[in-house]
Amino acid sequence: MTCLFCQIVKGEIPAQKIFEDEKTFAFLDIKPISTGHALVIPKAHLEHFDDMDAEDTHHVMDTVQKLAPKIMEAVGATAYNVGVNVRPDAGQAVMHTHVHIIPRSADDGLKSWPGMDVDNLEEINNKIEALL
Ligand code: 5GP
Ligand code: ZN
Repeated sequence: MTCLFCQIVKGEIPAQKIFEDEKTFAFLDIKPISTGHALVIPKAHLEHFDDMDAEDTHHVMDTVQKLAPKIMEAVGATAYNVGVNVRPDAGQAVMHTHVHIIPRSADDGLKSWPGMDVDNLEEINNKIEALL
């Protein structure tokens, strides 16, 4: 199995590494949405965000929380988005889960997702609760 992000972790493909510890690895996105756009991944090859167990999730989100303010400061941003695309229909292109840190500024021109007017929140919530 050849995985691009596993190869980056092993140093087989070059990347701008920001940080690594025993469980996580962070590097700059090759095609950034904004300056400083970074990815944080578990070192273990796990395809989807929901494949991570509680410990993996803890380590990855801990690294995200530690790095995001530093990245924001380094690039002179005033805010940041944290996001995960989970599965191809949500835009996941690399099948080794990763959390995006996207530095933001008031005038960066990036748009937030639009909201819908709906009247079925309770029905949706009931369906979700039934699966928990
Ligand atoms: P996804 O769409 O899967 O959530 O995000 C994958 C991200 O990985 C994209 O933002 C893309 O620019 C980045 N990416 C893809 N290939 C490489 C690469 O070889 N090196 C680095 N540093 N980033 C990559
Ligand atoms: Zn991998």
